[in-house]
Amino acid sequence: FFVTFEGTDGAGKTSVLQALETKLKKAKVDYLRTREPGGDPIAEKIRKVILDQEAVVMDPRTEALLYAAARRQHLVRTILPALAQDKLVLCDRFVDSSLAYQGAGRHLGVKEVAMINEFATDGLRPDLTIYLDIAPKLGLERIKQNRQDEVNRLDQEDLTFYEEIYQAYQELAKHEPERIVKIDATKSLPEVIAQVEQVLAQRIPA
Ligand code: C5P
Ligand code: MG
Repeated sequence: FFVTFEGTDGAGKTSVLQALETKLKKAKVDYLRTREPGGDPIAEKIRKVILDQEAVVMDPRTEALLYAAARRQHLVRTILPALAQDKLVLCDRFVDSSLAYQGAGRHLGVKEVAMINEFATDGLRPDLTIYLDIAPKLGLERIKQNRQDEVNRLDQEDLTFYEEIYQAYQELAKHEPERIVKIDATKSLPEVIAQVEQVLAQRIPA
């Protein structure tokens, strides 16, 4: 069963995944927690190229193609083998991130970015997507309070970049309400975790 976690920066994906992992370990569930871009040596190298702050400004299409390439590698080498072993796969970001960040944020077009990702994934969709919904302004404030190291990178973009990403996520959720479950991420972390656990309990086949 393939679950992805999505949201704008500062929504709390990492904290929620951390908490879930602790509980899954205790319950002895056979799971794989992974994140993209990365999860495999080649995909990790691509990740470094994408996220390297020293790099000159990357062309948006180059960026979209690198994300799709890293995703393909991660899918084939890490995610599909785990699913074949009947593991519960929890993945931090997937195609929806590219539709929102590259398609909307970088103005490449959601349809165009969807096309290259269809090719990269062979059209594979997550069984469930947990979308942590928080206005980007609030998310960025959280990061400013907790993760000073990330602030410089995020400050390179203006708020409209994040607003466009946020709007795209809302559209995606509206379009696929069955797959994409929206969680109010403005609530306290324990409340968000409880909500996510409830959704997982309902949706993961016994
Ligand atoms: O998931 P995480 O917040 O760690 O992602 C790292 C950064 O990569 C994000 O802050 C986001 O700005 C960027 N990103 C992106 N396009 C994607 C996925 C992530 O620009 N498709
Ligand atoms: Mg982050």
